[in-house]
Amino acid sequence: MSEAAALDLAAVHSRADVERLDRDDPLAPLRERFALPTGTIYLDGNSLGALPRATAGRVAEVVERQWGEDLIASWGRHDWLGLPRRVGDRLAPLLGARPGEVVAADSTSVNLFKLLAAARRLRPRRSVLLSESGHFPTDLYIAEAIAGWLDGTSRVETVDGDGGGPPSDDRIVAALSDDRLHEQIAVLTLGHVDFRTGARRDVARLTAAAHRAGALVVWDLAHSAGALRLELDAWNVDFAVGCGYKFLNGGPGAPAFLFVAQALQEQVETPLPGWLGHRDPFAFTPSYQPAPGIDRFQCGTPPILSLAALDAALDLHHEASAAEPPMAALERKAARLGDLFLALAQRRLEPLGLAPVSPRQAAQRGSQITLRHPRAGDLIAALAERGVVGDFRPPDLLRFGLAPLYTRYVDIWDAVERIAEAA
Ligand SMILES: *Cc1c(COP(=O)(O)O)cnc(C)c1O
Repeated sequence: MSEAAALDLAAVHSRADVERLDRDDPLAPLRERFALPTGTIYLDGNSLGALPRATAGRVAEVVERQWGEDLIASWGRHDWLGLPRRVGDRLAPLLGARPGEVVAADSTSVNLFKLLAAARRLRPRRSVLLSESGHFPTDLYIAEAIAGWLDGTSRVETVDGDGGGPPSDDRIVAALSDDRLHEQIAVLTLGHVDFRTGARRDVARLTAAAHRAGALVVWDLAHSAGALRLELDAWNVDFAVGCGYKFLNGGPGAPAFLFVAQALQEQVETPLPGWLGHRDPFAFTPSYQPAPGIDRFQCGTPPILSLAALDAALDLHHEASAAEPPMAALERKAARLGDLFLALAQRRLEPLGLAPVSPRQAAQRGSQITLRHPRAGDLIAALAERGVVGDFRPPDLLRFGLAPLYTRYVDIWDAVERIAEAA
C-alpha cells in the first residue's frame, strides 16, 4: 500500500508546495471537526488525542438528559449496560475484528492483566511469558506480576534490543525457537508500534512464529489503534489490548479496549471475575458463572460518561473509512505525513545534529517520528514556547505523533522549521 501512497517528495521545495498537499487531501475537512487551539501545532496525539467538537455535546446529553432526567432507568432505557459492547462493536472494524470480539473496558494496564493471565492459563504446562526489555513499562510490570505474584510458577523472559533500539522481529523469531526456551513459552506479548522509536512490528509474522512455537500472543495496540490499518482476524491474533485516549481521541483516561479471538472465547477465564462479567449479573447469585463470549472480560460498572466520549470520537474514524477498507485512508495519510517529516528532517535537521531514529520505510513505522538529540528535553521545552507540542522521552529522544485525522501537511513543514530554529 505504501508504494502507491508515496508522495513526490522531490517536488516539495516550499511551504506553498506543502499547502497544495493539504488542498488535495480528501481527509483534510476532518480537521475542522476537532477543537484545536489556534497557533498550536499539536504533535502529541499519540499521548492524548485531540478533542472532537462533537464530544462535549454528546457527553452533555448523557449527563443532562439521560443521567439528569432518566436517572437509574437509563441503564435499560438508554442501554447503558450495552455500551461497552456497542463501543467494542464500533471499534471492531477499525481493528480488523468481527463484532463480538472487542469490548471497551477498564484501562490498558488492567486489560493486559486480564488477557495475559487468561492466555497463561490456556498453556498450563508452559512457564515463560516472552516479551522485550524495551516494552512499555506498565506492560512489563503487569507481566512480572502475573508471573510472580499471581501464579508463582512462571517467569518473564525479555529479548534485548539491537544497539539501543527495540529488538528486530528477526530476533524475536529467533528467541521463539531458542533451544533453551523450547516448548516453555506460554505467551508472547509485545507492542505493535514501539512507543520510543515508532518502529512497527509485523504482527502476522510474529503471531505465526509464536503459534509455531506453541505459544499464544497478546498484542498491545496502544500506538497503532486509530492510526494504522489493523487486521487482527486475518493475522490470527489471539488477544490484544489498546488505548482509547491516544489516536482514538476518547479523552483523558478514556476506556481501553480488549480483543479476544472468537475461537478462544468459550475456553478462556478472566482473573477478575466481576459481577458485570457474570452470565446474569442481576440474579445476584453467590457463585460466579462467566457470561458467554467477550462479555466475561467486563468486570465492574462501566464508566458511561467516558464511553460516550469515546463513542462520539469513533464517528470520525468511521467517516474517514467510508470509501475504502476501514483505516486504509488514514494509514495512507499517516505514511505520507511521516515520509514528509523525514524528508524535511533530512534537509533541515540532520545537519543540526538531530538524527531520525524512526524507520525510513512507512510500512515499518507507526504514525510518529522520533529524533535523537543530546539536549532533547530542552528542545521539547523550547518548542512548546514556539507553539509546537511534542514530547520528550529520556534520555535523548524527541517524539512527534502524527494523528492522521487532524494533522495537516503544513503542520509538518512549520514544525520542522521551528525545530530547526530551536536547535
Ligand atoms: C500508553 C500505553 C499504555 C497505557 O496504559 P494505561 O493503563 O492506559 O495507563 C500501555 N501500554 C502501552 C504500550 C502504551 O503505549
